[in-house]
Amino acid sequence: MAITDKIYVKNHRQIASQLETSIPKGAFSGATLDILYQGDGLAKLDDATRDRVLEFAEDFLDCDCEANPHCGHPEEKFVDYLLELRAQGLGPDAIVDVMGDDYMLYAYPGDILSFLDDSVRTLEAVEALADVDENGAMADRARRLRQDLVR
Ligand SMILES: [Zn+2]
Repeated sequence: MAITDKIYVKNHRQIASQLETSIPKGAFSGATLDILYQGDGLAKLDDATRDRVLEFAEDFLDCDCEANPHCGHPEEKFVDYLLELRAQGLGPDAIVDVMGDDYMLYAYPGDILSFLDDSVRTLEAVEALADVDENGAMADRARRLRQDLVR
């Protein structure tokens, strides 16, 4: 399962009752993207919730793809956001706090930790393959990204 399948909407019950319809807990579930972030439910949300929902839509759902928001870009952008927070030196607990403040989302710190570990291992593999291929630029890039994640 991708990390974006483990990102949840905070106050999910409260939001569902404001929207007067049930939505899945997963922020990236198809129905959540459609109802909470794209639909006309926005007007029914209280101000604090609406601000966060709009932030999320602006930051992650802003591509022009025909299939938007089901084109995969929102998930890719969110993964970049997580890696960026890690590169700023934040640990899993702090990352969960920040996504709560920014977008009213939550995740389990253990899931974030495994995601970061997987990312480091993927970069190690990329680095090793690039070394074999004598692709110095690629190897350097992977090494720098990895060092940002583990420092
Ligand atoms: Zn897209």
